[in-house]
Amino acid sequence: MLRAIYPGSFDPVTNGHIDIAARAAKLFETLIVGVYDAPPKRLLFSTEERVAMMQEALRNVPNVRVEGYSGLTIDFARRVNAQVMVRGLRVVSDFEREMQLALANKKLGAEIETVCIMTDLNAAFLSSSLIKEIASLGGKVEEFVPPHVAAALRRAYGV
Ligand code: ADP
Repeated sequence: MLRAIYPGSFDPVTNGHIDIAARAAKLFETLIVGVYDAPPKRLLFSTEERVAMMQEALRNVPNVRVEGYSGLTIDFARRVNAQVMVRGLRVVSDFEREMQLALANKKLGAEIETVCIMTDLNAAFLSSSLIKEIASLGGKVEEFVPPHVAAALRRAYGV
């Protein structure tokens, strides 16, 4: 049976990420969500916070575990003995980036397959950066993220 990773920054996790993780968990024996420890961009939440928020979001999915990781994603996949890397696809603009990543990862580790799962229609417009922008301006994000993430965003922005 296949084991997959679902890597990302998840800053913070949105309903779009949760949908992809829950659907991927049905396809693979074990899904390991990898929360990237040191992305080259500014993050709102620490790795520990992002891991904890993801764990809480997926606590009802039995065959999922959540881990922080640093370094190459392909090395993380090898370390946890995964054969597959899951990514989510929203709009056409995601495709170019995901294609580039998948081809680069294929060069780095030909034994790991990238599998892209299409977004749910309701989550097609959801991104962590959009959610942060709305929250920072005092907008309601309850519809787009779980309650504990909405609370964390309110705390982070003091709104
Ligand atoms: P990155 O890995 O670029 O830091 P994220 O952590 O936001 O990006 O997302 C991790 C993965 O989940 C990426 O493959 C991204 O395309 C996908 N994703 C993000 N938001 C959604 C969504 N609303 N629906 C489907 N997939 C998504």
